[in-house]
Amino acid sequence: MVTTKEQNSMETFEKHESQVRSYSRSFPKVFHKAKGYKIWDTDGKEYIDFFAGAGALNYGHNNDKMKEKIVEYIMEDGISHSLDMGTVVRGKFLEKFSDVILKPRKLDYKVMFPGPTGTNTVESALKIARKVTGRTNIVSFTNAFHGMTLGSLSVTGNSFNRDGAGVPLNNTVAMPYDTFMEDHSSIDYFKQYLSNTGSGLDLPAAVILETVQGEGGINAASFEWLQEIEKLCRRYEMLLIIDDVQAGCGRTGTFFSFEPAGIEPDIVCLSKSIGGYGLPMAITLIKPKYDVWGPGEHNGTFRGNSMAIVAATEALSYWENNDLADSVKEKSKVIQARFEKIVRDYPELKGTTRGRGFMRGIACGEGKEDYAGKICETAFEKGLIIETAGPSSEVVKFLGALTIDHEGLNKGLDILEEAIEEVLNH
Ligand SMILES: *Cc1c(COP(=O)(O)O)cnc(C)c1O
Repeated sequence: MVTTKEQNSMETFEKHESQVRSYSRSFPKVFHKAKGYKIWDTDGKEYIDFFAGAGALNYGHNNDKMKEKIVEYIMEDGISHSLDMGTVVRGKFLEKFSDVILKPRKLDYKVMFPGPTGTNTVESALKIARKVTGRTNIVSFTNAFHGMTLGSLSVTGNSFNRDGAGVPLNNTVAMPYDTFMEDHSSIDYFKQYLSNTGSGLDLPAAVILETVQGEGGINAASFEWLQEIEKLCRRYEMLLIIDDVQAGCGRTGTFFSFEPAGIEPDIVCLSKSIGGYGLPMAITLIKPKYDVWGPGEHNGTFRGNSMAIVAATEALSYWENNDLADSVKEKSKVIQARFEKIVRDYPELKGTTRGRGFMRGIACGEGKEDYAGKICETAFEKGLIIETAGPSSEVVKFLGALTIDHEGLNKGLDILEEAIEEVLNH
């Protein structure tokens, strides 16, 4: 593609686009092409992508198999917009999701299509939990991120995001996440709030959590903690909502992030990579006995985005065997080993490693918080796209495509290490 000098500059965005723009500030280049784990800017410079659309591109950019299906569908004048009318592709998706994902895992859920964003599946989950239980409180956790609409913000931890609401965010209570207290006593804390009738905590309708907190700093809950939370949910008849918007669709090595913990949530929120190709889509999985919606009680104009559904159906083919899951497990060992080595080799970082599967981070220690931003900035100059996470943006966050090969992975990790070395030598 030939671009003019003007198209190559950030000026257009500064001049016309709202101040709210954010990633174009972190990565101030104009991009025009992408394939697999690579992105190119208009100067022709190539970048390795360790960001993957914040987890919306688990299968890489412009995945050939999905592209073929989408193009074929468009060329046949397949219906592109249908609200939630019955369409052939929607039926195919539902059948394949049941056969490939739910049945082999012995899970039984009704599939709801909310509006096609993460925050929309979260809103639908909060609504149904309140409707089912007749209770209003929702328990969320410190450093949680669930999206930007009011309900989702009310269960989100970050004060900058919360302040943006402009109205009080209520009917929610934040409890300490597993990793929030160094002695891992958070479960006892929550238990006491529930059992002590003087605690002031009205019994919650639901508990909502990420098994690995993405935006909140790549905090991975232990399986024991998740199991204890599930027990509390059963005991106090609170619904367990797992927000798998970022950690799901294979990100942690299994399709659902909660699988290895052996828990069975009442509601599961999926978005980001469920659309496969980076197209907008979300689903809410609801245990059949809690599927008490009236028709259209939660709806949305773009529930039937067929192009996303076509890509999503093809993406499920990755889960018909164990190849992708096995390769994620194998490659995630490479990432973890390298992160541990970096932490050892650069003690000035005061770093610690975090995460699970392909959701990993290096947290820069106390007093070194601003290193993470500088590392990402330097990495970008060297051809690597990687972002920070955490309440003080103190975590360098790896979120590469699950389909990345060893060559790309190692090359990206080398660039990251070079960037760290450069930042520390300043
Ligand atoms: C990204 C994200 C959301 C919000 O998704 P949007 O599509 O941006 O609304 C919700 N929960 C989690 C865990 C996320 O990572």
